[in-house]
Amino acid sequence: MTSIDHYAVFGSPIKHSKSPRIHKIFATQTEQAIVYAAQEVTAEQFSSAVSTFFDHDGKGLNCTIPLKEIAWTYADSKTARAQTAKAVNTLIKQNDGSILGDNTDGIGLITDLINNHNINLAESRILILGAGGASRGIIGPLLEQSKHPIMIANRTIDKAVNLAAEFVHKNTVKGCGFSDLRNQQFDLIINATSLSLTGQLPPLPDDLVAKNGVCYDLAYSNEPTAFVRWGQQNNALKSLDGLGMLIEQAAEAFFIWRGIRPKTSPVIELLNAERNT
Ligand code: NDP
Repeated sequence: MTSIDHYAVFGSPIKHSKSPRIHKIFATQTEQAIVYAAQEVTAEQFSSAVSTFFDHDGKGLNCTIPLKEIAWTYADSKTARAQTAKAVNTLIKQNDGSILGDNTDGIGLITDLINNHNINLAESRILILGAGGASRGIIGPLLEQSKHPIMIANRTIDKAVNLAAEFVHKNTVKGCGFSDLRNQQFDLIINATSLSLTGQLPPLPDDLVAKNGVCYDLAYSNEPTAFVRWGQQNNALKSLDGLGMLIEQAAEAFFIWRGIRPKTSPVIELLNAERNT
């Protein structure tokens, strides 16, 4: 009898997550016997929920808002990219029973921007809104692509400044508050705050998007998110949400867990078509 391996995504809120659907499609496409569930887990519940999952033979977990930084402290060992990010979105149970933490958010975003949307990252002046777990995961990979300094703006200014300081050896990264964005323009503005989940926006000046600039919301939704709408209203050439990144980061996690890389373009096409109907 073929045994079925168990995977899950933990987070709060988790009801909106498309990850179970995506991994189910990947499993069918690659003929892998897995189940993938979504479980509401708060920061306080994290440690005991993860231990229970792996004690009951779970093979791998994804961690989403607000758990990525706690997952980093939980993992017994980390990949280089997770170590740099100090945030983990993928946990892997290893043969010796220890838990390895990885971060596939950065590669997921970069793959979506470059392969799926033809964005020239090398020439882009990039602004990241937010300094939480997702922001941590994307800064290192974006720095590797861009020739320009990267700006991080956050409600809690100290968090943006401290996060920028962690990456300063690689290239110039600056941290600031939203009010410091006046009279500045960016070619790529990435919303890594959690505000779109509640239909809200950070306070942004109207002239922030450079000519032919692109807006990208890490959040995704069947309807355009508040930030996607803001980009459309403020002259962005493209205003995108994070569905492509979600699918690309999931494909990377699936590859780590199963050793086989699923094709992402049919899944992106399918999920986009579903939300347009
Ligand atoms: P965190 O909880 O770690 O960080 C939240 C961020 O949002 C912080 O910078 C926080 O600022 C900011 N924020 C929260 N409330 C407010 C507010 N009222 N006003 C201004 N800023 C606020 O979340 P994550 O980093 O894990 O996730 C961020 C977003 O990215 C979520 O929407 C998530 O769904 C999305 N995401 C999408 C992925 C994808 O594959 N498409 C992958 C990863 C994340 P402060 O520091 O001041 O509290």
